[in-house]
Amino acid sequence: MQLSFEFFPPRTDQGKQNLREVRQQLSIIKPHYFSTTFGAGGTTQDATLETVLDIQANDGIPAAPHLSCIDSEKSKILTLLNQYKNAGINRIVALRGDIPSGVRDIGDFHYANELVEFIREEFNDHFHIEVAAYPEMHPQAKNMQTDITHFVNKINAGANSAITQYFYNTDAYFRFVDEVQKQGIDVPITPGIMPITNYDQLLRFSNMCGAEIPRWIEKRLATYGDDMQSLREFGFDVVANLCDQLKTQGVESFHFYSMNKSQPSLKLAQSLI
Ligand code: FAD
Repeated sequence: MQLSFEFFPPRTDQGKQNLREVRQQLSIIKPHYFSTTFGAGGTTQDATLETVLDIQANDGIPAAPHLSCIDSEKSKILTLLNQYKNAGINRIVALRGDIPSGVRDIGDFHYANELVEFIREEFNDHFHIEVAAYPEMHPQAKNMQTDITHFVNKINAGANSAITQYFYNTDAYFRFVDEVQKQGIDVPITPGIMPITNYDQLLRFSNMCGAEIPRWIEKRLATYGDDMQSLREFGFDVVANLCDQLKTQGVESFHFYSMNKSQPSLKLAQSLI
């Protein structure tokens, strides 16, 4: 079983300290790697580098930076990749990123497959490249079929494996994997798991990224109001059951969107071991 955890780069000293503690708590189950997101449009790019280097130097767990290419230039991406390589990092989550509003010149890359190709050209097989997958379709895709074709292009460009957007419906995941396999692609597609701990936040994220919250889950979450403990217990139950269904049907790797908190994803991960 391969378990990985995703963080966002903290900006404050307090946030950095909290994240170090979270990483320490998660390290006890020997994760496969810790990944760190990368803000599109330059917002948190230095913070990503700082967090990744801290993980790589101190945690004894491989660090995997996310890298989005939109609104960037080849020379900048190359500099960053060389910094990662020199720090001993050999796994990258390669993304297009979201196009910043109002930006006309989107830079040297248009889609993630071009970034994957570029990394392979420049670094051969040094990096294990993960890409993003969308079992419920990327929100800007024309339709599911073209989105799957674009996903297949990323793998054919040289990606080794993928991590999915989160979902609460295993049918969407297994159908996506089936359809991709029918196109001759057989790379690991790791489900991205989002713990349920906060109703408003989950609604906001899901609206942004196009992940569906099944009606029965949403209706129940809405009834808890300020009763956070009941909400968390219900959320744990739902997501632990999702993970269990995935595991029972043969899934061997899980990627947790930790939101820089240890307990929700650690408890879920431990339920799988
Ligand atoms: P792509 O694979 O390039 O796809 C983007 C859209 O373009 C899709 O609709 C696709 O169908 C379409 N497309 C692809 N190729 C073509 C083509 N040739 N012609 C026409 N259309 C095409 N965002 C961040 O900013 N930072 C992060 O750290 C981050 N981490 C993420 C981690 C995971 C696991 C996931 C699932 C998402 C993450 N995101 C992150 C969000 C991601 O950047 C957005 O979803 C973004 O809009 C798409 O990125 P992508 O790499 O999937 O793009």
